[in-house]
Amino acid sequence: MKAIKLISIVLAVVMCAMAFVSCGKTETKENDDKTTVDTADTTASADNADGKDEDKVLTMATNAAFPPYEFVENGDYAGIDVEIAKAIAEKLGMELEIIDTEFGSIIGGVQSGKYDMGMAGMTVTDERKESVDFTTSYATGIQSVIVKADSEYTDFMEFYSELDEEGTPVAVKEGITIGVQQDTTGDIYSSSDPSGWGFGKENVIRYKTGNDAVQALVAGKVTAVIIDNEPAKSYVEANEGLKILDGAYTDEEYAICVAKDNTDLLDSINSALEELIDDGVVAEIVEKYIPSK
Ligand code: GLN
Repeated sequence: MKAIKLISIVLAVVMCAMAFVSCGKTETKENDDKTTVDTADTTASADNADGKDEDKVLTMATNAAFPPYEFVENGDYAGIDVEIAKAIAEKLGMELEIIDTEFGSIIGGVQSGKYDMGMAGMTVTDERKESVDFTTSYATGIQSVIVKADSEYTDFMEFYSELDEEGTPVAVKEGITIGVQQDTTGDIYSSSDPSGWGFGKENVIRYKTGNDAVQALVAGKVTAVIIDNEPAKSYVEANEGLKILDGAYTDEEYAICVAKDNTDLLDSINSALEELIDDGVVAEIVEKYIPSK
């Protein structure tokens, strides 16, 4: 129920479209604005007699620390988003260029035209829709709550000390601290007031990466970490002594974002993406990384 309320506040599931470019022959790694281009083949530009290769390149900004959606494996980008983006790019006859940057700078970069699209397990929210457009949604996620395996807590509702007659939180228990990855929906929702199903800014500690937040939990610096469910599972597997509480803190839809005035790109991506969804390609890619059994 709580989750549903929160959802209504937050979600608005947009479905837009995406369609991107092609397979990553050229991959760009950018960390805090430092860009290195691992080269590529130049064939993609060969059919561009005017030499305007960039017309055929689709730049995707992501944060490659969000398994299984995007991560680095053996020096290459891998994950659900990476494979879907490659398939979109291929359909569009474009060359995919992946730029790894901080999650919080993706939307601004897309808005300013620095990147063609942002694809990073990105949740569609009303607030983000004011800055960028979203494609059709290609996956769903939930925000999960990770605590220490020996935690006394079994549900995030126990983090509240008081509810009103309608069951809406009024106050947070003394001493509760929530670790989040900054600028993510886990951060945005947790940082709202209890009346908005958050825990109050003052009780939220924002870390640069999800892993930093999880390490703070391991070290006993926070009571819980609120983060998307799939990365949550990876972190719990990788770190002993943690568990995920039952239930969802929120339900979310993931989509690709593009600049608001880039309707052509939005339409192209959407038609490619919708074909990939209809043909079962997206489901296959998801199944590869998140096996249903
Ligand atoms: N789904 C979350 C969001 O959109 C987290 C995404 C991420 O960390 N890559 O805010």
